[in-house]
Amino acid sequence: MPQSAADDPGHPRHPAEAAARTTSLTALDRVVTGCRACPRLVQWREETARTKRRAYLDWDYWARPIPGFGPPDAPLVLVGLAPAAHGANRTGRIFTGDPSGDLLYAALYDLGLANRPESVRYGDGLHLHGVRITDPVRCAPPDNKPSTAERDTCRPWITRELQLLRPTVRTVVALGGFAWQALLPALAQAGWQVPRPRPAFGHGALAVLPATDGGPALQLYGCYHVSPRNTNTGRLTTPMLRALLRTAARSAGLEPAPE
Ligand code: SF4
Repeated sequence: MPQSAADDPGHPRHPAEAAARTTSLTALDRVVTGCRACPRLVQWREETARTKRRAYLDWDYWARPIPGFGPPDAPLVLVGLAPAAHGANRTGRIFTGDPSGDLLYAALYDLGLANRPESVRYGDGLHLHGVRITDPVRCAPPDNKPSTAERDTCRPWITRELQLLRPTVRTVVALGGFAWQALLPALAQAGWQVPRPRPAFGHGALAVLPATDGGPALQLYGCYHVSPRNTNTGRLTTPMLRALLRTAARSAGLEPAPE
């Protein structure tokens, strides 16, 4: 029998207690993949892995929570929404296996922040330079819509990730309004002051969050999500994405490739 919620992956308090125990991003990335705290999402991620999509019948789906990806000393962090059922839930890497990720990784490569323009699957040799990518919800939700309760249950994972990144992170980019809203309480818990009234999301929005311990402030940028809904309608174009990521990278102290 598990001794505590930290040892019981299906307990609603498992994320809070297990995340708090981790002392490195490597440990956090390992532990999060065992989480089963949201029954509806566990059922969905495993069911889609069983039924699959016709194009991926020969894939052995990952079907677990998706950890963050990128170096543990990244000054720049990009935050999305949640894994796609036949994207990251299949490939095991965040933003990998769907059109959103294709656009994002190509942009990072163009800026010199990735060693290759495409991400295929967990363990394919892709490396990011100074950038980490993560999600506030780690399991694929039906219709890409986690419930408020699921978002809140999952929050301790990203909160702990931000705490562990705190020595180096200077800039966070919220990809979409969901990420922005999910990030504000996580950033507050991780050691930054969120302005009141809460800053509003928008493409290019910038909020500067002072550190509660007198350390460096954090710059939070808003960026439209790289979803096909935004890119197919022209709401977000590749030049817009590149420009915003370039600005964010510079603000984090990185030197992106020139235009
Ligand atoms: Fe655990 Fe988060 Fe997945 Fe819920 S969404 S089961 S809290 S990893």
